[in-house]
Amino acid sequence: MAIPAAAKKCPICSKPAVEAFKPFCSKRCADVDLNRWLTGGYVIPARDDEPMSENDNSIPSYDQDDEF
Ligand SMILES: [Zn+2]
Repeated sequence: MAIPAAAKKCPICSKPAVEAFKPFCSKRCADVDLNRWLTGGYVIPARDDEPMSENDNSIPSYDQDDEF
């Protein structure tokens, strides 16, 4: 009970699928689907919390203007 391949349609452009690129009609559509899949499933978290360097030592302030 094999489903005839001719019934398959390219999920990208709905053209009849080609045996060599099933279930797509061409390599181009296969690539499109692959890219769509990758970009849709690979979510890069937008991190903006870089660890602050502990270089924020207080600058030695010389208060020498208290000679008033
Ligand atoms: Zn196609």
